[in-house]
Amino acid sequence: MKPNLTLLTALLLPVALASAADSGAPFAQMARPWPRTNGAPKASDVCFSTRWPRPMNPADKWNAFQAAREFHATRLDWLYLSGQPDRDKAFVAKFKAAGFPVGGTLNCQLADSPTAAKRTYTMARTVDMKGEPLKDPWTKSWGMRFCCPNNPDYAKLYLDHARYALEIGVDHFQMDGVQLNDIMLHYGGCFCAHCVNGFREYLAKHSTHGQRTTWGIGDLAAFDYAHFLLGLGTAADAASSAWKGPRELRELFRAFQIESGLGFLRDMHREIDRIAGRKVGYSCNATEEFLVEYHKVHDFALNETYPATEGDPAFLYERRLKPAHELSKPFLMTFVSTDVPHNRRFIASAYALGANVIVPWDVFTGFTSPRFFGTPEQFSDLFGFIRANAALLDGYEDAGVFGAGIRDPRFSEHEPPLQVYAASDVLAVVRAKPGQADAPVVIHLVGAKSNQTGPMRVTFDPQRFFGGRPLKLRFLVPAAYDAVAHEKAEASRDFAPLTTATELPGGPVSVVQLPGVDPWGILVIEPAAERAATPWQPAVWCDEKSRFSESLQVRLGCPTPDTQIRYTLDGSEPAKTATLYQKPFRLDGSTIVTAKAFDARGVAGPSVSVRFERGSARPRLAPDADALQANLKLWLSAGTLATTLKDGAPVSNWPAVVGPAATIPTAKLLTGATPAAPAFGATLINGQPGVRFDGVDDQLAVAGFANACLAGKPFTVFLVTQSDDTQFGVCGNAANGSGGIPRLYLTRGTFSYDRIADSAAVGARPGAAAVTVYRHDGIKTASARSGGRATENRDDLPVVRQFGGGDLAMPFWAGNNSHAGILGEIIVYDRHLDVAELEAIEEDLAQRYGIGDHPRWQ
Ligand SMILES: [Zn+2]
Repeated sequence: MKPNLTLLTALLLPVALASAADSGAPFAQMARPWPRTNGAPKASDVCFSTRWPRPMNPADKWNAFQAAREFHATRLDWLYLSGQPDRDKAFVAKFKAAGFPVGGTLNCQLADSPTAAKRTYTMARTVDMKGEPLKDPWTKSWGMRFCCPNNPDYAKLYLDHARYALEIGVDHFQMDGVQLNDIMLHYGGCFCAHCVNGFREYLAKHSTHGQRTTWGIGDLAAFDYAHFLLGLGTAADAASSAWKGPRELRELFRAFQIESGLGFLRDMHREIDRIAGRKVGYSCNATEEFLVEYHKVHDFALNETYPATEGDPAFLYERRLKPAHELSKPFLMTFVSTDVPHNRRFIASAYALGANVIVPWDVFTGFTSPRFFGTPEQFSDLFGFIRANAALLDGYEDAGVFGAGIRDPRFSEHEPPLQVYAASDVLAVVRAKPGQADAPVVIHLVGAKSNQTGPMRVTFDPQRFFGGRPLKLRFLVPAAYDAVAHEKAEASRDFAPLTTATELPGGPVSVVQLPGVDPWGILVIEPAAERAATPWQPAVWCDEKSRFSESLQVRLGCPTPDTQIRYTLDGSEPAKTATLYQKPFRLDGSTIVTAKAFDARGVAGPSVSVRFERGSARPRLAPDADALQANLKLWLSAGTLATTLKDGAPVSNWPAVVGPAATIPTAKLLTGATPAAPAFGATLINGQPGVRFDGVDDQLAVAGFANACLAGKPFTVFLVTQSDDTQFGVCGNAANGSGGIPRLYLTRGTFSYDRIADSAAVGARPGAAAVTVYRHDGIKTASARSGGRATENRDDLPVVRQFGGGDLAMPFWAGNNSHAGILGEIIVYDRHLDVAELEAIEEDLAQRYGIGDHPRWQ
């Protein structure tokens, strides 16, 4: 293999530059406390929820108390009471007698009375511009109308329900529908007299007379926003994005409604504390909004998390748990998925990262799908493992997060202090007791993409643990599920037998070989009593990026000063005369690297032997390869713009490599604005070109393309995109990006063919560059891929003869909103490509855009 000098230089240079940023501090000093606020679970708590006291009636086969025991739960959260005092009291008392704190629920749609036998929903409800009930999906499905926080009667109702729950014995409260009127904006509300009057007062404080004149508000004292909007021709129940008139007014109305909700909750919490005579804990169901707004009035988050958009460890860490840690607010989640392996990975990842996940039992999965009840066989091994290792969870804090596409900025990107080498991506989280230099340090290892990681090799910088003292190592995994052992553990409260522990060879080691996990294991590292008499075992590192290329870059290191590392590449034990390690080297084929450190006297430490396996090259196909050419109908590549456009230049015409160009459509956007040109960027996607859409008014389209080349026949579409927004993508409907019926929506989150309710999951990780694929077989099967693998296949979507609108528009406007993101490629075939072809094109695109879905070296 001809050496690639450019690549080598590119790899070596940042190594020297980046290492200066890393403080080199031990893990116990890196760990920062994440306080457990009032009512929040401990790191080792197993949180259980039954939404209602089950069994609810003699026909209900689910028994909450029995299930809680089977999952080794320690607390009860998010419970709705039945309103029958005797029954509620008995139910709550049973859990409290078993030592459970009990969390009740308050919400946006409380019944008019907490105890009336017949539940009605009439008091203090939200209304549209004409005073009619809103037609939101919750009201449509369940008839439970949202209450309005600007209506003083909602406060009375809220306190009635809180008082009842406190009398029953509830300890803390979950708030569901916490966004209150901010949600109702999507359904044309709330315009009750309290909201209209309140907004008038809000405008007096937050706008000037001059602004109001510009907006067409004459006399503020007589201003009624509902009448104002109706007068402009707005439909009485229109979503706020379709409200006519000044955008500033819409935005101020939203700010007013958010502030109203926060003020309402702040008042309610003060009143409930007063009634209870203590500080009550409060949580709420919001994720992104929790981090922006609702953390201000809640002690912790208890939210529904969705697999397609939020189920990835990198997303969970970077977008949820790291910001929550920075706000010092704990995160408890319920995972809205019936996928057992994904639930298991999610539970393990969340606990590894210091959060908690509610036992997957009685989980809401949609308005029309049944609730999900996981079984002890599916999950109790994990929860038993949590209980068994409480001492290694409580008081431990994150000191470093590695793998699974995560870049921990506390460490050098090119010389991280820990690396895991396995066939399948592994999330590795180092946790330590802040400031306790001698306490055991743990490394959680969790399968990131697949539950079975295969054997793992962990390489670390031993100086980070106990100041260079030799190590004692132990590896813990959940014991295989055994109902009798679990029952015994629950009865005796001795959970230790639910963990399988293996002692590993310790001493002055830098590399540890571990069996694969399914999906979770904990490596426990403790200081050994003796000191090292010989040099340390060298660490063998590989450059993560080079794992995706032809040759692997390898680096050796030894923490003992004044030693020489000598190594061989043939599996033999290095003698004093073996090759002296001086700088990183490259491997071009599968190799065993064996290394040993020698001190000045010639005394050798333990050797390390590591095999790097080079997989065979994955086949690559260019989009216009001979076998594909006849069916290639459109190929838009941002690369073609690089020759004619400067960085940042507007793209009013995107010429195609094959097929028609994309141009700015003439139709107005849904906001009423005129479409504008997106911007070209020379290095937007991992250093490669892209076209950036601002999510406001940037729009391009290929007129008539979807009906000409995608409707009524099989197709395969590839996109290369990068966006934080799961709804970023293209559509086959109106040229201005708005939807149509039948639908064709190709986004980073989902693939909708004809029917939106039956969309196929795509699940590209938010923020990361991705190759996504959308296929229809021209008969009834639609399927999607991302990350180099199939994500969903549905055979219930019959081919349609045409799509509503039938243009190809970028970006797609979902929910009457534009969505921002970057497009690198759109490639369309009027054929259902086979898996080998898909993988080969994916590989070609992944290589060109530096998207690491399949490492070459494993
Ligand atoms: Zn209202």
